[in-house]
Amino acid sequence: MTAAAAARQILIRLHEVMASRMHAQGKLDSVVEIIGETLDSEVCSIYLLRESMLELFATKGLNKSAVHVTRMAIGEGLTGTIADQVETLNLAEAKAHPDFQYRPETGEEKFHSFAGVPIVYRERAVGVLCVQHVEPRRYEDVEIEALQTTAMVLSELIANAELVDEEEARSLSEGLTGTQTLDGLTLVKGLASGLAVYHQPRVQIEQVMADDIEAERARVYRAFDKMREQIDNLSSQAEFGVGGEHEEVLETYKMFAYDEGWSRRINEAIDSGLTAEAAIERVQQRTRMRMREIDDALLADRMHDLEDLSNRLLRIVSGQLGTAASQGLRRDTILIARNLGPAELLEYDRRRLKGVILEEGSLTAHVVIVARAMGVPVLGRAAGLRGIIREGDEILLDADQATATVRPNAQMAEAFEARFAKSRKKQASYATLRDVEPFTRCGTRIQVMMNAGLRDDMSALATSGADGVGLFRTEFQFLVSATLPQRERQTKLYRDVLEAAGDKPVIFRTVDIGGDKAVPYLASNEASNDENPAMGWRALRLALEREGLLKVQARSLLEASAGRPLYVMFPMVSEPWEFDAAKAVFEDQLAFLRSKKKLIPDAIYYGAMLEVPALAEVLDLLCPKLSFLSVGTNDLTQFLFAADRANPLLAERYDWLSPSIMRFLRRVTQSTAGTEVDLGVCGEMGGRRLEALALLGIGFRRLSITPAAVGPIKELVRKVDLAEISEAMTGWLADPSVNLRDEVSRWATDRGIETD
Ligand code: PEP
Ligand code: MG
Repeated sequence: MTAAAAARQILIRLHEVMASRMHAQGKLDSVVEIIGETLDSEVCSIYLLRESMLELFATKGLNKSAVHVTRMAIGEGLTGTIADQVETLNLAEAKAHPDFQYRPETGEEKFHSFAGVPIVYRERAVGVLCVQHVEPRRYEDVEIEALQTTAMVLSELIANAELVDEEEARSLSEGLTGTQTLDGLTLVKGLASGLAVYHQPRVQIEQVMADDIEAERARVYRAFDKMREQIDNLSSQAEFGVGGEHEEVLETYKMFAYDEGWSRRINEAIDSGLTAEAAIERVQQRTRMRMREIDDALLADRMHDLEDLSNRLLRIVSGQLGTAASQGLRRDTILIARNLGPAELLEYDRRRLKGVILEEGSLTAHVVIVARAMGVPVLGRAAGLRGIIREGDEILLDADQATATVRPNAQMAEAFEARFAKSRKKQASYATLRDVEPFTRCGTRIQVMMNAGLRDDMSALATSGADGVGLFRTEFQFLVSATLPQRERQTKLYRDVLEAAGDKPVIFRTVDIGGDKAVPYLASNEASNDENPAMGWRALRLALEREGLLKVQARSLLEASAGRPLYVMFPMVSEPWEFDAAKAVFEDQLAFLRSKKKLIPDAIYYGAMLEVPALAEVLDLLCPKLSFLSVGTNDLTQFLFAADRANPLLAERYDWLSPSIMRFLRRVTQSTAGTEVDLGVCGEMGGRRLEALALLGIGFRRLSITPAAVGPIKELVRKVDLAEISEAMTGWLADPSVNLRDEVSRWATDRGIETD
């Protein structure tokens, strides 16, 4: 008999039992009879988890008086081992197994062979189904498969009849008990605690047994088609980013998606009478078990990819397509994902989202910038998180120390809470600096501005005491919107932002889409074919060609700023003519508004971002045209080092405090010195203490940073003597054999300046 036929025979009979009006206990009693008979086994027993113990719930062949009497701890005896390891055991001689334990009340001494499979519900073992035989023999593969399929059906019965306590099951099994720690890379500092929620939740299987096998087969075929189509299109999605490692993952995905063996096995599972969902899960369980026996890191990685894909297939087939955001967060949450796009993160409820843990991620990826702006700590590069964190696990995220504690004990939670309280106190101490102007020790006023991108961010202006908004990323509105924001909506946003800013200036940057900020409604063939989107058709390049887009934005900004000054800044200017062309679009719109006798801004200040290194060579040509220049160090450094800012493999490779970056930036300050141009930095580095110190040391007097950094940077500014740091920087940059980070850090520590 084939595995499918054996399983099918059992399933048909189980179907009748499950559909009957029998009580759960009666159903379990019938199940053991059916299995025992079909597999020609003298004993068949079901153990279920109750009060943290595996209790014999039903048996054919053992003493009936042992039912609800025999109990084993998880990890104890053969049954306990199966539940603990979530593993199948198939033994010709049970007594020979080191974990064997004899229970006299069962009368099992006469049985030699033993096979058992875990009953798994929501990835946890909630019981064990086992068979025993007098003769010493190993059970055949088909029999084991039949048992495993039955165990799936049982898990449905158990869940519906509420035979086990789910919470209890959650904390046991799969070795995912007790505390574990996860290390990674700090992407956004901070502390947070909450329950783990996977961005792409696992699908809950509602029905295991098929009513109509052909219909299930058709569903699976359709899902396969759809999944293959998705995989082929994946490269344009934020989840995957671009380049290097991603491409490899994508190749593996493609390989699995088109793997005949995989689809054939799912088909066979459907033949045995399972629904499409159960069949996919069944095959996945089997693969998981096989893989567990092979100790190979590379294969384990591939296994994660297959899990991902299998879950994707399940989502398609079950129609449970949404991310955790669409289901809404119910409690304080630590979000878990491989990677996220900025728009995906913005979909989450800010009140409940406390922290993020990513398998990938890098410091200047836009999703991280968004998280920083939201004040949500992020731990990145947390390899192997899927093997450690289960949905719903309690997590203490300490992004300051680049670690997370999963399933903490009470003491750990207490110690964490104490640290958390201390850090909140520290934050509160920055609030006292809110109205203090950031003068250096030597009396120079430094402009400490903040970066923003959404209407909600503006409240931070008052709480942080920033001097204004040095970078308003207007594209965020485009990212969170399903369609291109129309003029009225844009105008309203800009007006609201200006209103919230009061007298403080707001520098609006025109749309910077493309790169890792892809918007589907603008996905033109040109953009999606970019092999290097960061260096492709993005930002001002795109805006100048989609002139309609820039025109609408110009009109909206001009109208919103009527009666007050407008500061507008163009991203990714690579040559001066691009600045001229963009300015001309604004000037045209201004002329139009004038001709219509509309109210216009009091003054317009045009600025450019220095993000493309080539622009630094022509500052003498550009500066006379500008009111201000803002260095976008996120992009600038990715281009200087030719290191993709979103590539997790390069996340830690190059240092902002390197002689190449610092010497380059110093040349920029020298080129603008003596001009009318107001120079600043608006990349992430300005918000980090040591980097900010170095920037002050090479001549920057305006920093626009993430709101949470405003307090710490103001505090730093007040402790600095500019002549002193400038002299020190000159020395270090003249002698690149020194480690700049160490030197700056030592310098700061000597002067009582905090360095992290
Ligand atoms: C930058 O590139 O440094 C910058 C500030 O712009 P963004 O991070 O939005 O690309
Ligand atoms: Mg940029």
